[in-house]
Amino acid sequence: ASERLYLGMDFGTSGARYALIDKQGAIHAEGKREYPNYMKEDSLDWALSWKTTLFSLLEDVPVHLRSLVASISLDGTSATTLIIDSKTGEPLARPYLYNESCPDALPLVKSIAPINHTVCSGSSTLCKLVSWWNNDDSDKKSTMLLHQADWLLWLLHGQLGVSDYNNALKVGYDPEADSYPDWLLSQPYAQLLPTVKAPGTSIGHLKGDIRTQFGFSEDCIVCTGTTDSIAAFLAARATKPGKAVTSLGSTLAIKLLSTTRIEDARYGVYSHRLDDKWLVGGASNTGGAVLKENFSDEQLEKLSEHINPMEASPLDYYPLKSVGERFPMANPKMEPSDVEYLHGILESIARIEAKAYMLLKDLGATQVDEVFTAGGGAKNEKWTKIRERVLGLPVSRATQTEAAYGAALLALKGCQ
Ligand code: ADP
Repeated sequence: ASERLYLGMDFGTSGARYALIDKQGAIHAEGKREYPNYMKEDSLDWALSWKTTLFSLLEDVPVHLRSLVASISLDGTSATTLIIDSKTGEPLARPYLYNESCPDALPLVKSIAPINHTVCSGSSTLCKLVSWWNNDDSDKKSTMLLHQADWLLWLLHGQLGVSDYNNALKVGYDPEADSYPDWLLSQPYAQLLPTVKAPGTSIGHLKGDIRTQFGFSEDCIVCTGTTDSIAAFLAARATKPGKAVTSLGSTLAIKLLSTTRIEDARYGVYSHRLDDKWLVGGASNTGGAVLKENFSDEQLEKLSEHINPMEASPLDYYPLKSVGERFPMANPKMEPSDVEYLHGILESIARIEAKAYMLLKDLGATQVDEVFTAGGGAKNEKWTKIRERVLGLPVSRATQTEAAYGAALLALKGCQ
């Protein structure tokens, strides 16, 4: 018998990708698509664009591998929301994008939700739902809310109204109690909320017409998904408590697998559920954007070669403020060389990263014992060494960092 394969798709902010893996995690095929620009009434028709991209990705899966696909899962951007007709599945309004804000709904949401709850932000899914509920005059009897990932998965399995507890967090789902809270269920729009399963749970078979059109097998199943940033964490396969992923992209974001759930609105720290564990996350405004302002990628590479990562930089730069005032050297008139300057910034960001992990521990999370790195900064080996010294922990580059790979792991999970 031929080996079975698992298909994951990622619908990120700038495009979509797929990854096809086997049980051991080896990649058999992968690919990428840009979102086409479809217009509808003077604005982008995102729903049609995503739907088209979904089927383009299925077409991109090599024909001879399609019959081997045992299961499919996918992720979407968090808080990207669709209001649909619960009979036909068709969107009733333009989708609300992940970063769109509905401040008009905020006073009402704040009046019903617990203080500092994750829904109390203008871009939360709940604010989007409430804003639509209060501003749209159409008949609301047979309507339903789905997240981007839920809707795209529905196109594949055909059962309306299924979500996962990662996507549903920002609409107010309580992943610890595994139910919607009473303050939400008592609202008139509670009837729109989807049912919620664990990410990577089998929902049903791939629809027959899609199966035959593309040549997938009869027993191919479709599984619940997650959000794009959680899928990217899953890709690193940091599956034990204490394992963490630092993402050194434009910003510095950290995610730590913990046995305890922690939340602290002051720091923007919150936890997503992952089966019997918690994925604790926080994001700093420092990161690669500061590097990019000062150095090209080529300069970063060249200058980094000259850094001795075992030597602590005496420069204490807080990489958010302007440069000049930040160099308390013995001779304040002496400009640091580019190498010293870069060393100082890399070291300073590493100190902020160390503080971030320390804070999570102080807030009650499992202590970090190993860090994997994702994002543009992960390829800088000198920086990795600097961070190892500053964090006092093993630091390495994550083998896999694509969210599509994480989604494929969810598809695999749904088969076990
Ligand atoms: P985004 O968050 O925008 O997706 P990426 O993960 O693509 O970011 O990472 C881009 C960032 O990586 C840029 O800010 C850039 O300055 C930084 N970067 C690129 N090359 C290096 C390098 N060799 N060392 C450190 N940082 C780098």
